[in-house]
Amino acid sequence: MGDMSNVKTALVTGASRGIGFVVASQLAEAGYHLAICGTRQTTIDQAAEKIRSASGVDVLSKAVDVSDRDQIQGFVKDTVKHFGSLDVLVNNAGITRDNISMRMKAEEWEAVINTNLSSVFHAMQAALRPMMKARGGRIINISSVVASMGNPGQMNYCASKGGVEAMTRSLAREIGSRNITVNAVAPGFIETDMTADLGEDAHAKLVSQVPLGRLGQPEDIAGAVCFLTSDAAAYITGQVLHVNGGMHM
Ligand code: NAP
Repeated sequence: MGDMSNVKTALVTGASRGIGFVVASQLAEAGYHLAICGTRQTTIDQAAEKIRSASGVDVLSKAVDVSDRDQIQGFVKDTVKHFGSLDVLVNNAGITRDNISMRMKAEEWEAVINTNLSSVFHAMQAALRPMMKARGGRIINISSVVASMGNPGQMNYCASKGGVEAMTRSLAREIGSRNITVNAVAPGFIETDMTADLGEDAHAKLVSQVPLGRLGQPEDIAGAVCFLTSDAAAYITGQVLHVNGGMHM
């Protein structure tokens, strides 16, 4: 590849499908080279190939368990080695293991906290050195509206997303002087595999709580993420941008 000095690089976790895939695709459209990960090599490679053929950017794809500190920090290092920089980090990978609190098993609690919360700390920690060296960077963490509203049956998930928002504010204060912004995007209900199991009744009930009268699409979230990476968002840090059709105000 020729002169890469003006090429920017973005790392998106959980980009094999759903919100992460569309975020990665839109960042590629904006000209970013990409590092993307998911849990399985075949599906993340397929996602990478789709993005490559649509936008022509260089895409590094790897099976990474973000809940494993060595794996996610190793992937951040590999990304910097491959592209020479890391300009944008999007922590998107996430899971649910719903259960009412009285029945919630230790494994359900730990899986969600490790995958949704600890992973974000590990990834941000590894991204700081290359961003400081480059004298700037953007970190965007995907939270959820339920961090603000609460949700029965999701004590683990709500705790993980509330933690993500608190870490976002804390790191934003810590590294603002280094020209690194740290923000979160909190989606409402978005149509992906994560919400595919809703029955028709639950679907209708949810829509009735949304002033804009529809569930969200991954594109609605990707637009907010891309905005936070743009020059127009240079003076925004430590914020949670809610994208939920008005279901929570
Ligand atoms: P999704 O369709 O279920 O996709 C989840 C993605 O995360 C997949 O790419 C998955 O990879 C990856 N992933 C899961 N565990 C991982 C791990 N341990 N290591 C690496 N990658 C992992 O989910 P989504 O709806 O797009 O959600 C994306 C983010 O938005 C999540 O943080 C979620 O909490 C948040 N969110 C979603 C909604 C919603 O309504 N959908 C609402 C609020 C917030 P594989 O394909 O390999 O499994």
